[in-house]
Amino acid sequence: MQKYGAPLKIIAPGRCFRNESTDASHENTFFQLEGMMIDRNISIANLLYVMKLLLSEVFNRDVKIRLRPGFFPFVEPGFELDLNCMICGGKGCPTCKHSGWVELLPCGMVHPNVLRAGGIDPEEYTGFAFGLGLTRLAMMKYGINDIRVLNSGDLRTMEQFSVR
Ligand SMILES: [Zn+2]
Repeated sequence: MQKYGAPLKIIAPGRCFRNESTDASHENTFFQLEGMMIDRNISIANLLYVMKLLLSEVFNRDVKIRLRPGFFPFVEPGFELDLNCMICGGKGCPTCKHSGWVELLPCGMVHPNVLRAGGIDPEEYTGFAFGLGLTRLAMMKYGINDIRVLNSGDLRTMEQFSVR
């Protein structure tokens, strides 16, 4: 923001680490794609459209998503975006903790103080930001029911995705 000002569109992929207990959908290491769009008149509708289009293109079909309120200090309002579970089709399974939905990404409208700190006038510009979990996306796309197999080094897992 400080370097390029507004309007601004960024995509930043990278590896992430977290110190929490692991289960079928949580791992200590995963990949994430961060994105942000700042311009005049950007709203939650823009966020929804971009996320739904992006996910529909990845999966080659229309996807169902939902927003739940979530707290993240750099956005206001903040949301958890859930994807209808593609392992079980929404019926409920261990991957989606039997809820039919998979928590895919935190997102929200960039907090005015973040814009100010970046030298952008929040009265003139608004923006959305998201952190898309690429590992969970790959699980949904390829029907992998346990995130931990991706870092396991198990050749039976890896051989399914070998490039020839
Ligand atoms: Zn499921």
